[in-house]
Amino acid sequence: MNSVGRLTAVALVALLGACGQTDNDATDVFPPLDQVAERYVKLILAIGEHEPGYVDAYYGPEAWLNEVAASTPAIDALELEASTLIAVLQAHQATGTASGDVLLAQRIQFLIKQLIAAEARTRIIQGVSYSFDEETRLLFDAVSPGITEQELETSLATLEAIVPGEGPLNERIANLRQGSIVPTDRVDAVFQAAMQACRTRTADYLALPEGEAFTIEYVTDQPWSAYNWYQGKAMSLIQVNLDQPFMIERAIDLGCHEGYPGHHVFNAQLESELVNARGWMEFSVYPLYSPLSLLAEGTANLGIQMAFPGDERRDFEKAVLYPLAGLEPGATEILEQVAEIFRLMRYSNTEIARRYLDGKATREEAIEWTMKYSLSSRSRAEQSVAFIEFYRGYVINYVLGMDLAVDYVDRNGGIENGENAAERWRAYEMLLSTPLTASMLED
Ligand SMILES: [Zn+2]
Repeated sequence: MNSVGRLTAVALVALLGACGQTDNDATDVFPPLDQVAERYVKLILAIGEHEPGYVDAYYGPEAWLNEVAASTPAIDALELEASTLIAVLQAHQATGTASGDVLLAQRIQFLIKQLIAAEARTRIIQGVSYSFDEETRLLFDAVSPGITEQELETSLATLEAIVPGEGPLNERIANLRQGSIVPTDRVDAVFQAAMQACRTRTADYLALPEGEAFTIEYVTDQPWSAYNWYQGKAMSLIQVNLDQPFMIERAIDLGCHEGYPGHHVFNAQLESELVNARGWMEFSVYPLYSPLSLLAEGTANLGIQMAFPGDERRDFEKAVLYPLAGLEPGATEILEQVAEIFRLMRYSNTEIARRYLDGKATREEAIEWTMKYSLSSRSRAEQSVAFIEFYRGYVINYVLGMDLAVDYVDRNGGIENGENAAERWRAYEMLLSTPLTASMLED
């Protein structure tokens, strides 16, 4: 038990004493936080035995994993365990708040939100279905805004005007991008160079854990574009899916998102700051369908702008990545304008996910919507809809997560003005090393 746990137990004795329950040992009535954290970790591991892919990362004691694997409770028993732990933590909450220790209060609140998600997931596994918004509120502690077709049509009209050529807009944009496809034999060199640049730029502002490292693998036939499999001890396995052509802008997008200062750094910071430094074992497990994912995806997407603010990205791509790819920077100016319009349309995918999963659009309508408003090819749209079918409400984490992360960094570090990088990185680092969920960010 660490000092925080001891403090809590002592404070609980005082609390229970005030309620006239001094005849009970407080720790028997309300187990100390570290014990709750251990039960939480085992609960998540046990849910993972029922749903492959649910545990995204685990680097806690192997004995806990073996214990769970040897006798996994039935799923309804796990639902009950989640409810029990929520009640225990709610009892702790009064103590956490009264102690004036902000981080302790955040730890408790974070665990409650993670457990609400775990409880909901056990119900989903048992066949319960929720509306899209209810599901995301339970699993990710957030409900996403949408976007209307009228707003999307306005943006499409702007694109029609600025993108040259005749015929369907998605084909015209594909033509513009033709010159950005990295030849297969150059993909690794381009991606490695982008990763190194993302790493260097992150290390300028964040102290990366000693010995941190990553390996890259190229794969095919996956519903995602890339994946970071965090291994613990500050190591990541980053897989890049080559089902779709590798556009040059993916190098920095993925380098920052999966690597620096995105998922690799996020996980490494949680491990070093919360698991190693404080002994908060709940962070040694990462349940995919949980509020932690909104923070992970939001910070990973914001990480691109953190590492390459302003024009730095374009300059780096032109100076380093295009030559490595053997390509000439072509229609970059128009493509930047297109990207700016796409930003206005960013809730389109969330909107179609909500309509499709709530039964208000068919699969074919979802594919057509994606082709029309994400301006993608049919095969890319089918991949996107397959992602929605598999990961469901998880899609909100990318866009809403990023908007919440941007708000947080703007509020705490100042809006980017070319001179406040250090302040903004400090705010960003808080997001990477503090127990936070979406609703806690808004406070
Ligand atoms: Zn991600």
